[in-house]
Amino acid sequence: MAKPIVEMEIEKVTMELPDTKTVRLKWPEGYNPDFKTGQFITLYWPDTPSYKRAYSLSSCALDRGFFETTVKRDGKMGTRIVDWAKPGDKMFVIPPTGRFLPVYEPNKHLICIAGGSGVTPFRAFVREGTKRKLETKITILYSVRTTNDIIFNDEFHQLQLQNSQFNFFVTCTRLHPQDPWTGRRGRITAEWVKEHIHDLSNTVFYACGPNELVEFAEHLVLAEMKVPKEQIKTEKWG
Ligand SMILES: Cc1cc2nc3c(=O)[nH]c(=O)nc-3n(C[C@H](O)[C@H](O)[C@H](O)COP(=O)(O)OP(=O)(O)OC[C@H]3O[C@@H](n4cnc5c(N)ncnc54)[C@H](O)[C@@H]3O)c2cc1C
Repeated sequence: MAKPIVEMEIEKVTMELPDTKTVRLKWPEGYNPDFKTGQFITLYWPDTPSYKRAYSLSSCALDRGFFETTVKRDGKMGTRIVDWAKPGDKMFVIPPTGRFLPVYEPNKHLICIAGGSGVTPFRAFVREGTKRKLETKITILYSVRTTNDIIFNDEFHQLQLQNSQFNFFVTCTRLHPQDPWTGRRGRITAEWVKEHIHDLSNTVFYACGPNELVEFAEHLVLAEMKVPKEQIKTEKWG
């Protein structure tokens, strides 16, 4: 049976960065959906019901009572949400779906490759792993233009302190040479990804964000490293 489309009220908005907003949509009374961490919802505004767009959940399946999604100012829907969505507004929500799901097995290592706002579902992966105190190792390799573009920077550093199985690494692609950032610079490379692999057969790769980055990750893992395709899961945003 098709899951019903539900009207939800925006309970809270949080500006993560000047161009990135987390929207918390409150579940109506009695709503208790069955869904999985890593899935996406589809949103539309009541005044434009034919204009629908997908958004990954940045909250996890253990977060009950609301959905959170983290949106970058981009295109029509992204701009309307970031610039205009406010508490009290109503949006229609097509319930979670999708197969971009974390494999939470104790011996697995999830290497999560993200570009820009593509990091948002990985916040959900780490939240669930941390809340459940799982042994699954999670490593995020995150490419951003500058240090001002790191979404959930503080939160990921906090999660690293709480969860010894989680590691968060950032590479900046467009920093000024004089910038004081002491972390990695440049695009994600095969060498950088390989540095984080300890046991290839138990590694599951995830890539999310712009098509270019996801296709790079697919090529690296499948063609260059000859990893079976069951060991990579991707979510292309366009
Ligand atoms: C499964 C899935 C999950 C997603 N999750 C997220 C998420 O968690 N967070 C998030 O921010 N996004 C997410 N997206 C992307 C999101 O669905 C929207 O596509 C995004 O917010 C842009 O809104 P839009 O499609 O209305 O943009 P559109 O207006 O349709 O524009 C699409 C793209 O074209 C560009 N564009 C538009 N007009 C022009 C022009 N004249 N010249 C040049 N370029 C132009 C825009 O900048 C934009 O990049 C996800 C997509 C998918 C498929």
